[in-house]
Amino acid sequence: MSFENLGLAPALSRALADAGYEQATEVQQQAIPMGLSRLDLKVSSQTGSGKTAAFALPALQRILDARGDSSKRREKGVVHGPRVLVLAPTRELAMQVAKAFTIYGKHVQGLRVATVVGGVPYGAQLKALRGPLDVVIATPGRLIDHLGTGKCVLDNLEMLVLDEADRMLDMGFIDDIRHIAEQTPAERQTVMFSATFAGHVGRLADELLK
Ligand code: AMP
Repeated sequence: MSFENLGLAPALSRALADAGYEQATEVQQQAIPMGLSRLDLKVSSQTGSGKTAAFALPALQRILDARGDSSKRREKGVVHGPRVLVLAPTRELAMQVAKAFTIYGKHVQGLRVATVVGGVPYGAQLKALRGPLDVVIATPGRLIDHLGTGKCVLDNLEMLVLDEADRMLDMGFIDDIRHIAEQTPAERQTVMFSATFAGHVGRLADELLK
């Protein structure tokens, strides 16, 4: 199936054409329309399936939609944190996801993406977290540090994505994930990607998803 019929904004279709994508993969065909409908999703998919675009495109469309309607932010008077947060198990995966956002978001004007991962100095990250942000892509541990010091706030979060949730739980991030989710608005959209939803991943999904 081509991307034409999935309901994406022209700015996103154009970026996909620029990247040479012609057909949506299976996970993209199934998850993009539901993601655009702002439903919570549990998606079983493997690395290499095209899963990054399956959550990045609905996330970017949300950001484009918000560009036309800033009333929510004006009302509150203050700009607080990102609209979209992606949690990933490793620094490498987080960097890959960030790169995908810049490719798919190439024509989203003024898109601001910050990557918050361990093993890098705090200085540049703090700078990236200052000012209005659209997307934060983070490994749980380092994000917790920034939440603790108030350098990152999640008050305005609209979409939470857990990428490779099973791996994050295998790495012992369950309490960090719960702690992060608690700091986000309850009405958020939550999208979980995992190779499996058996056992503790399934239980976490029951906790976090509507
Ligand atoms: P992912 O599973 O998201 O890591 O994607 C795996 C690889 O497939 C990445 O290099 C993507 O750039 C590429 N890719 C994702 N979706 C498509 C598509 N619809 N057409 C062609 N390549 C794609």
